[in-house]
Amino acid sequence: MECDVLVIGAGLSGLIAAAVAADYNKKVIVIAEGRGNLYAASGFIDFLGYYPRNAQFPLKKTRLAVQKLIIQEPEHPYAVAGENIIQEAFDYFSRLTATIGYPYWGSWEENRFIPTAVGAIAPAAMVPYTARAELESYPRILVAGFQEQGDFYPHLVAENLQQQMRVLNINSQVDAKWMELGINAIKELNSFDVALMLEKKDVRDRVIAQLEKVIKGDTLLIVPAVMGISRWQEVVASFEETLSCPIMEIPTLPPSVTGFRLAESLLAYLKKKKVELYWSVKVTRVDIKAGECRGITATAVNGREIHFHGKNYILATGGVLGGGIKVGLEEVEERVFKIPVQGELRAYNEDFFATQPYAYAGIKVTPDLQPTDDKGQRLYNNVFIVGRNLFGYDPFTEKSGNGVALVSGYLAGALAARGPRK
Ligand SMILES: Cc1cc2nc3c(=O)[nH]c(=O)nc-3n(C[C@H](O)[C@H](O)[C@H](O)COP(=O)(O)OP(=O)(O)OC[C@H]3O[C@@H](n4cnc5c(N)ncnc54)[C@H](O)[C@@H]3O)c2cc1C
Repeated sequence: MECDVLVIGAGLSGLIAAAVAADYNKKVIVIAEGRGNLYAASGFIDFLGYYPRNAQFPLKKTRLAVQKLIIQEPEHPYAVAGENIIQEAFDYFSRLTATIGYPYWGSWEENRFIPTAVGAIAPAAMVPYTARAELESYPRILVAGFQEQGDFYPHLVAENLQQQMRVLNINSQVDAKWMELGINAIKELNSFDVALMLEKKDVRDRVIAQLEKVIKGDTLLIVPAVMGISRWQEVVASFEETLSCPIMEIPTLPPSVTGFRLAESLLAYLKKKKVELYWSVKVTRVDIKAGECRGITATAVNGREIHFHGKNYILATGGVLGGGIKVGLEEVEERVFKIPVQGELRAYNEDFFATQPYAYAGIKVTPDLQPTDDKGQRLYNNVFIVGRNLFGYDPFTEKSGNGVALVSGYLAGALAARGPRK
C-alpha cells in the first residue's frame, strides 16, 4: 500500500493528523490495533486546567498561563508547538467539527466549568454543542438522571455541584430529580442503552412530561450524556423546545456517548476524504535506512501481512495507556520504531495528588516533532510523534490530555503533508 502519510494509531491525535493531511489532498492511510481512547472518554478538549499544576482553583483565562509555561518548560508539547500553532489547531478543530456536524464550543484561551459525573467541577476548553451552556449564567440548575441507568446519581451530583459552585462564588440553586424511561429494563442500563432509548419519540415524550412539571424559567437542565447517538440533534431539540430551557450533557463513566459521537464523525469525515483505514493490525516490522522509515509491515488478525510504504509516518499510538509504549518488569519499549522513551516512568511521588514524574515520560522531539535519542539527535526525518507518546507534560494534573493530542496531531498532519516549518 502506497501513501503520502501513514498514521499509526486512531485516537484523537491520529484522527486529527489524518484529517489535516487529507485536507492538503495527500493520500493518507490510518492503521490501528484498536479504537482510541475517545470511546471511553468524553471527547471534551481539556487544554490547560491548572497552572501551576498544584493550584487550588482551575484557570478561567489561560493565555498568560500558557505563555508562562512555554517559557518555563521548553520541552512541553505546547512549547514545542508554540502559540501560533495552538491557535491554528483550535481554529481548525472548530471548523472541522462544524463541517462534520458535531460542532464544538469554546476556545483555548478561556476554560468552561463542566460538572463531572460525580458533580465535581472540571475545566475544559472546548465542549460539544450539547454541553455549551455556562453554569454561571443560570440562577437555577436541575440535575436529572434516569432510574434505570447505573452510575449516575443526580442527588449526589447536585449536592457536590452546589458545594463546588459556592467555592467558586457561583450562586445558583442546584436541585435534583429522578426520571423514568418507563420501559421494562431487565438489567441496569449504560449510557448507550439510554441514548438509544431516547431516540424513540414515545420514550422521550414520557421523560419530557416528567420534567415539564418541575422545570421553571431560567433553569439549566443538566443530564448525563445520553441525549441520543447519531440522532442527538433531534433528541436535544425536542427537550429544549418543549421545556424552553437549555440542556447540558455531562460526561458519564465509560462507555462515553459524547466521545463516540466525535470519533465516529471524524471517521466518517476521513472516509469521505478517501482516507483508508485498517483496523486490528499490528506493526511487526519497520524498514529503516539512512535515518528514514522506508516501509512498515503490519499483521492482520488472520495472520496476513500487509506492507505499507509512506513518504511520512505519524506515530499516534497513545503512550502507555494507549498501548504504544510497553512497560515491562525490566524494560520500557516504544513498540513500533523502538524509539527511546525518556523520563522516569518508574518514579512516582507518594503524594497521590502531586504531579507525578512518570506522567512526563515519553518521546523527546525536535521542533518539527521528529523523535530524538537521549543525546537530543534526530533519529528519523520522516517520522512525527504525537499525542500521549510525547515527553514533557502531565495530562492528569494540568488537565491537558486532548489539548496536546489536538495541537500535536494538527502540527504533525501539516508537517507530514507540506514539509518542515520555516
Ligand atoms: C478514561 C479517560 C478519560 C479521559 N477524559 C479526558 C477528557 O475528558 N478530556 C481530555 O482532554 N482528556 C481526557 N483523557 C485523556 C485523553 O483521552 C488522552 O490524553 C488522549 O486521548 C490521547 O490520545 P492519543 O491519540 O494520543 O491516544 P489514544 O486515544 O490512546 O489512541 C491510541 C491509538 O493507537 C493505537 N495503537 C496503540 N499501539 C499501537 C500499535 N503498536 N500499532 C498500531 N496501533 C496502535 C490504539 O489502538 C489507538 O487507536 C482521558 C483519558 C482517559 C483514560
